[in-house]
Amino acid sequence: FFITFEGGEGAGKSTQIERLARKMRAKKYDVLLTREPGGSPGAEAVRHVLLSGAAEPFGPKMEALLFAAARSDHVEQVIRPAVERGSVVLCDRFLDSSRVYQGVTGGIDPAFMAELEQVAINGMMPDMTLIFDIDPAEGLRRATVRRGSDAGADRFEKETLAIHQARRDAFLAIAAAEPERCIVIDASADPDTVEHVVTAAVFAALEA
Ligand code: C5P
Repeated sequence: FFITFEGGEGAGKSTQIERLARKMRAKKYDVLLTREPGGSPGAEAVRHVLLSGAAEPFGPKMEALLFAAARSDHVEQVIRPAVERGSVVLCDRFLDSSRVYQGVTGGIDPAFMAELEQVAINGMMPDMTLIFDIDPAEGLRRATVRRGSDAGADRFEKETLAIHQARRDAFLAIAAAEPERCIVIDASADPDTVEHVVTAAVFAALEA
């Protein structure tokens, strides 16, 4: 079973994915917790390049290709083998982040993005995707508080509120278009409430 966590900055995905993993392990599920960009040694090397100053000269198309290359490696080296041996894979960001960040706000042709997605995932579609939804102003405030100041903001976080709003709309549009796969989680609630909602949704799907 393959579950992905998606949403904008400061929505609490990473906190919630860790809480879910802990809870599932307590129930004796075999859980693999991973993330994108990254998740395999090769993809982590690409992550380092993408999220550092070295990526400044990259255009959106080069970036989209690098995210796809990293995803392909992550799928073949880590995700598919784990799903095949019966683990539940929890992944922090996956293909929907590419659709939204490189596709919608990166301005890459949707047909090209769709092709790239197929190549990268090679059939490994998530069984379930949780879309963490939060007002971007609140999300950015949380992300900044978490970091302590704005000093360490990575380049993806130094963007206008309008861009973050467009991403929120794009994630919600994906959820509306693929209701069998996607569940929207109200991430503005307190962490314990969000955890409760996430746990209920995931266990309902796993035990169905
Ligand atoms: O999950 P996290 O927010 O730590 O992701 C790291 C950064 O990579 C984010 O700031 C996000 O904006 C960016 N990203 C991206 N395209 C993806 C995945 C992540 O631009 N496909």
